[in-house]
Amino acid sequence: MYFGNYGLYILISIPALILGLYAQAKVQGAFRKYSQVQISNGLTGAQVARKVLDANNLQNVRIEPIRGSFSDHYDPRKRILRLSQPVYGRSSIAAAGVAAHEAGHAIQHKKHYGPLALRSLMVPSVQIGSWLGPIVFMIGFFMASDQLALIGLALFAGTALFAIVTIPVELDASKRAKQVLHSTGLVHGSELQGVDKVLDAAALTYVAGAVQALSTLLYYGMLFFGGRRRRS
Ligand SMILES: [Zn+2]
Repeated sequence: MYFGNYGLYILISIPALILGLYAQAKVQGAFRKYSQVQISNGLTGAQVARKVLDANNLQNVRIEPIRGSFSDHYDPRKRILRLSQPVYGRSSIAAAGVAAHEAGHAIQHKKHYGPLALRSLMVPSVQIGSWLGPIVFMIGFFMASDQLALIGLALFAGTALFAIVTIPVELDASKRAKQVLHSTGLVHGSELQGVDKVLDAAALTYVAGAVQALSTLLYYGMLFFGGRRRRS
């Protein structure tokens, strides 16, 4: 019975949850710390992003401010780089790192970087699968319909796969960001270490996201196959 498996769920999900909270705290801490450190070139995040984009012949990519914090992203459909307020208008090590990272996604897009293309392709199905998958699975599970439960499981597996594909995309964007910040001389020696700290902490949140998605998938999988065993 499903409710009897709460212990199992807790056992599987707690380590992933702790990793997620740890990663969140780490990225917020690193961002806060390096937001206080002024960058020697005096450029704002938006100006850094502009320089990184222009250095890669991406003059056609626009840069816009966006509300909230940690809402920074690159929109491949509209070719717009959106930077949050603490990044867009501030000249700090953290702002430069995040701005260059987002510009890294635009470079990936231009260079037809495979995992980014795959990730973009998965977005519509994941948007549906992430909420529909668990519902379909639970209905199938309670109705003892293997087919329905499997469909739910497959929908949710897509979400987990998406979270896994996200990891190389994010790591690669950060790698490109560090390279271009270094090669263009936008960031100097010890400043680059600060950029590393912020971007590495951000990368950990994506790893945690994948671990969480996988642990939930594992739980559903164990429920499904465990339930089948009992019935047969
Ligand atoms: Zn990113």
